[in-house]
Amino acid sequence: MTTSPSTSSPTDSATDSPTPNAGMVIIGGGLTAATAAETLRKEGYAGAVTIVADEPETPYQRPPLSKGFLAGKEDADSLLPLPASWYPEHNVTLLKGTAATALDPQAHTVTLADGTTLAYDKVLLATGAAPRHIPFPGVDLKGVYTFRTKADSVAVKELFTAGNKNVVMIGSGWIGMEIAATATELGNHVALLGLEDVPLSTAIGSTLGAVFTNRQKEAGVRFELPATAEKIQGSDGAVTSVLTNTGVTLPADIVIVAVGVVPNTGLAKDAGLTINNGIEVTASLQTSAADVFAAGDVANSLHPVTGAYARSEHWANAIASGKVAAKSMLGQNAVLDDIPYFYTDQFDLGMEYSGFGALTKDAELVIRGSLEKREFVAFWLLEGRVVAGMNVNVWDVQDAIKDLIISARTVNKVQLADEHTAIEDI
Ligand SMILES: Cc1cc2nc3c(=O)[nH]c(=O)nc-3n(C[C@H](O)[C@H](O)[C@H](O)COP(=O)(O)OP(=O)(O)OC[C@H]3O[C@@H](n4cnc5c(N)ncnc54)[C@H](O)[C@@H]3O)c2cc1C
Repeated sequence: MTTSPSTSSPTDSATDSPTPNAGMVIIGGGLTAATAAETLRKEGYAGAVTIVADEPETPYQRPPLSKGFLAGKEDADSLLPLPASWYPEHNVTLLKGTAATALDPQAHTVTLADGTTLAYDKVLLATGAAPRHIPFPGVDLKGVYTFRTKADSVAVKELFTAGNKNVVMIGSGWIGMEIAATATELGNHVALLGLEDVPLSTAIGSTLGAVFTNRQKEAGVRFELPATAEKIQGSDGAVTSVLTNTGVTLPADIVIVAVGVVPNTGLAKDAGLTINNGIEVTASLQTSAADVFAAGDVANSLHPVTGAYARSEHWANAIASGKVAAKSMLGQNAVLDDIPYFYTDQFDLGMEYSGFGALTKDAELVIRGSLEKREFVAFWLLEGRVVAGMNVNVWDVQDAIKDLIISARTVNKVQLADEHTAIEDI
C-alpha cells in the first residue's frame, strides 16, 4: 500500500457535492467498514462519518466465528476490531440493524430501509459477501445452516458444545474444513462432502490439500469425495440425514452448507455501477461513479503488480482495502498494492499464505521442510520467480516470503528448498 500526502483537503472536494459538507457514509458493518472509519479519523478527517450496518451488531471480524469463538476459547469482545465505545468517542454515527436500500450517485444520497435519506460527500460500499445458496431439497429443514454471521456461529456453537452430534458439512473449502475441525474437537462426528477429489486443491493444489485432508482424517472426519447433496432429509421438520449424489445416506443432526460466497452487489448494480465479479474498482478503489468507493470482499480491484482484476475474500484485504478506501475518499493518492494474504487454523495445523493464487496454476511447487511432519514452507515458482508462498507450522517467515514475491528476482531452487539457507539470503 502506498500513499502520499493529500493536495486537496476533504472539505475542498466536499464543495462539489449537492449537499456541501454532508460527510462520509460507509455502508456495511464488517471489518472493512470499521477499518475505513478508523482510518478517516486517524487521517484527521473531522467531518461527519456514518456507518450503515444491517446486522444488529457493532462491526466485527469473522475469522474467529469458525475457530476460537465457535470452540468457546474466545469471547464476543475478541471479535471486535474496535471496542463499542470507540464509535461515540470518535463521533462516528453507527446505525446498527439498518439496511441501505438505494444509492443515488447523482444526488449523492443513500436511502435507508425506513425511507430516510442520507446525503454524502463520499460513500464507501463495504457490503461484503453472503453465503451462496444452493436450493438442495430440504435446505429449509430445522438444523440446516449457512455460516457467515455471529448469529450463525452462536447458534451452531450451542449445538456443537453439547457434543456427540452427527454433523454433515457440505463444502470442502477453507470455512468447511475449519468448521469440521472445530466440530470434531468439540466431540462431534463429522462427515464432509466436497466437489474436489482432494479438498482445497483448487486453492493450493492436491499435494498440499492432502496435508490438511489427512490431518482431518486422522482426527476422525469422514470424507465423501467427490460428492454433493442430492437431498437433505428430515422428519417432523427437522433434519435427520443427507443423501449424497453418490447414493450414500449420512446421518445428520446438523447440516452446514458452506459452498462459497457471492459479493453483495445489489445496491451498486441498481445504482448503475460497473459490476464485474463484484464491484469493479480502480487500484485506488474508486467505482465507475464519482465519489463512490468500494472495498473488502465486495470489491474487484485492479492490482498494480499483476495488472489484473482480483477480488479477495480475506481478512487482511478487509483491513488493507479499508485503509486505502478511506485515504482515497480523503483525496490522497492511495493504491491497494498489498500482496494478498490469508491464514487458516485446523486442529494443530497453522498456516499462512501470501501471493497471487491466479499465478500458481502453472507454477512449480518447491517444498522446504517436511510434508510428513507437517512443518514446511511451500513456494510456487513461475519462470524462476516466487509468485506465492505458504508456511505450515513454521513461523516468522511471511515478511521474507512477501519480499521474495515483491522483488520478483529469479531464485535458485536448491537454495529455496534448503532449510539451512535463510529465505532472506536467497
Ligand atoms: C466463518 C468465517 C471464517 C473466516 N476465516 C477467515 C480466515 O481465517 N482468514 C481470512 O483471511 N479470512 C477469513 N474469512 C473471510 C473474512 O472474514 C472476510 O474477508 C471479511 O469478513 C470481509 O470483510 P468485509 O467487511 O468486506 O465484509 P463482511 O464481513 O461481509 O461485512 C459486510 C457487512 O455489510 C453488511 N451489509 C451488506 N449489505 C448491506 C446494506 N445494503 N446495508 C447495510 N449493511 C449491509 C453485511 O450484512 C455485513 O454485515 C472468514 C469468513 C467467515 C465467514
